[in-house]
Amino acid sequence: MTLAFSLEKPLFGLSSLNTSIFDAHVHLWEANSYQNLRYWNLNYGITNIMGIATPEVKNRLEELNQDEKIVFGYYLSPTDFREFNVKKLVSAVDEAYAEGYVVIKMWFGPRFLDYGKVKKPFSIDHNDYAPIFSRIEDYKMIVDIHISDPDIWYKNKYIDKKKYRTKKEAIKEFSSVLEGYPSLKFIGVHFACFPEHLNHLSELLDTHPNLFIDTASTKWMVRELGSNVNQSKNFFSKFSDRILFATDLSVGGNKESIDEYFATRLWSQRLFWETNVIDVNLPFPDKDNEQQTVINGLNLSEVILEKIYWKNASELFGI
Ligand SMILES: [Zn+2]
Repeated sequence: MTLAFSLEKPLFGLSSLNTSIFDAHVHLWEANSYQNLRYWNLNYGITNIMGIATPEVKNRLEELNQDEKIVFGYYLSPTDFREFNVKKLVSAVDEAYAEGYVVIKMWFGPRFLDYGKVKKPFSIDHNDYAPIFSRIEDYKMIVDIHISDPDIWYKNKYIDKKKYRTKKEAIKEFSSVLEGYPSLKFIGVHFACFPEHLNHLSELLDTHPNLFIDTASTKWMVRELGSNVNQSKNFFSKFSDRILFATDLSVGGNKESIDEYFATRLWSQRLFWETNVIDVNLPFPDKDNEQQTVINGLNLSEVILEKIYWKNASELFGI
């Protein structure tokens, strides 16, 4: 029998787990559909999340008594970064702290430079941004940061290297921020956008003890980390204390079939980390791959799973 995802048997191919799971990267664009995510999360053993939400959505979830298992992240406006509205960004950090947020989200996917006017040449480590990082450091909050994009996007979309910078440059800028704020903890989302180059990512993690990485973007992780299972397994052994399970699932917006959207991502990730399956079709499209993306399971040990599923996040977020 071939292993394939089915909404009727959502746990097909998975075994029971001895740990809870913390999803360290979820977007809560609105409050009303949260219960549907919660339903699928509990199906797959995910009890807690870090949810990125506006104060309005956060307040609504609190009114509904649905906030108990959520650590909240505050999304700093990419527009304000592009326009160098530093005072506004610092006030936003103040607001986030006052409202009880734990995490500050920053998003610098190079395409953000296309979404409006850029006042000065952008770089993550631009001097003008120093007061923002300092304020977050003062508050002992955590930065959740998206610094780059898949390699293939640099081949197909980010042709203008002067405008978008190279991926190497983005990593270098990020590295200088990590060095500048050693007591500030960072989560580099999507394996710090570097799952294609685990040797370089190792160096970055070795150099900067304040860096953690998350496993968000199911297709990107499955595609790249599954392309060399042994190398990926070694990486997980070495950095098992620095990796956080995460999905980047979005609540709200108009996803076609919400149940299938939630369940396919959660099933694929669990199958990928926990089993040794070979060549199982990823049950949703991956535009970044000309071939069918397949799941080649890493079969991580129980000790490592407990860390990346629960322990690392619970320590970092102080649960
Ligand atoms: Zn995200």
